Amino acid sequence: MSKVLVIGCGGVASVAIRKCCQNSSVFEEICIASRTKSRCDDLKAKLEGTTDTKITTAQVDADNVDQLVELINSVKPDLVMNIALPYQDLTIMDACLICGVNYMDTANYEPEDISEPTWRANYEKRCKEKGFSAYFDYSYQMAYKEKFEKAGLTALLGSGFDPGVTQAYCAYAQKHLFDTIETIDILDCNGGDHGYPFATNFNPEINLREVSAPGSYWENGHWVEIPAMSIKREYDFDGVGMKDMYLLHHEEIESLAENIKGVRRIRFFMTFGQSYLTHMKCLENVGMLGTEPIEFEGNKIVPIQFLKALLPDPASLGPRTVGKTNIGCIFTGTKNGERRTAYIYNICDHQECYREVESQAISYTTGVPAMIGAKMLLEGKWNMPGVHTVEEFDPDPYMDELNRCGLPWQINENPALVD
Ligand code: NDP
Repeated sequence: MSKVLVIGCGGVASVAIRKCCQNSSVFEEICIASRTKSRCDDLKAKLEGTTDTKITTAQVDADNVDQLVELINSVKPDLVMNIALPYQDLTIMDACLICGVNYMDTANYEPEDISEPTWRANYEKRCKEKGFSAYFDYSYQMAYKEKFEKAGLTALLGSGFDPGVTQAYCAYAQKHLFDTIETIDILDCNGGDHGYPFATNFNPEINLREVSAPGSYWENGHWVEIPAMSIKREYDFDGVGMKDMYLLHHEEIESLAENIKGVRRIRFFMTFGQSYLTHMKCLENVGMLGTEPIEFEGNKIVPIQFLKALLPDPASLGPRTVGKTNIGCIFTGTKNGERRTAYIYNICDHQECYREVESQAISYTTGVPAMIGAKMLLEGKWNMPGVHTVEEFDPDPYMDELNRCGLPWQINENPALVD
């Protein structure tokens, strides 16, 4: 009898919860808890009668460890699925340790307030030492490794698509396709069109922070940082067609550089249309992407949070988004002394996702792997006390579930390479 506590009830969590409800023999009970309880109640009302999973709801401020501990102790779940925001990763991990429960999430920690002095000092030291300036890195969550090990608990970090499935692809390539992997290019293409001049496909604050930051990649044992959007390539994506893509910093590069032994270069590219980039640049230039509070008519407001209130809710894009996503990894390396290449990828159709779970493909491609990661832990297939990223586990059962649960993958053994 497995019970999970899902924290968060936004675009990604809604898909993960619906997919859990399609697998009710594993997810027998779900408690959905979030800051705004009415969203949890609305989803519960939609799902009841369509699933054997028993659903309850609760209100929680996941920034508050005491509230989380009280909730976890009353629900008594086998696993906490953190699908709120990266800001809550550490408080939820703290609460899981106090209550003795396994943990998982879909994105690594970053602080909401980047001006907090202790965090800032640590951040500036890390920028100098490591050579990349993203606000997130794995060190904060990996610092919990020993505590989770000692408690006999597993924390699975980043089980979405990227991070998440992309790392399972890497583990699969390492296990089955290559003796040595030399280069990895992770390509994230969204060929969808929602018809708005500007909207983000997942939480606008997290999304805009990510894409407006300097890009970086891993090469020959160190990070190379570049100005935002300064490396552009064109790629012809299966199922989508020709798209412009830009090199970004992305969190899984950091763990893959450690876990894929001997890899020489890892890069991450994401596609953007010109209209998106022009809007983003303009918003950035006028200060609307600011993350620090400003004084406005006697109130303090954070510009990017105000912008979020103006933009379409990503969860509302589902009915209007048409087209496909194509996300995958291109590998070069050797097998049995011969050079080889492989491209493992998934194509996902926005409208098909909407028909199945009332969501566009970005939330779908993240929410499905969140459910699969949880399933791996609940079934005991991925239990390994400590704090771990996806590529550290056996990819085979996860890859099987991707095929079964709506994200089938394919391999092109002779892909066009990115120069
Ligand atoms: P949304 O903004 O749609 O949802 C976030 C949810 O978290 C909301 O329900 C929100 O509540 C809740 N929440 C926020 N703060 C708190 C808090 N303090 N206490 C309790 N609940 C809180 O985000 P998404 O669904 O788009 O993204 C969810 C996560 O998935 C993020 O961490 C994001 O970075 C990650 N992600 C990962 C991807 C991957 O491929 N790995 C891709 C896309 C996203 P409220 O309704 O009150 O706002």
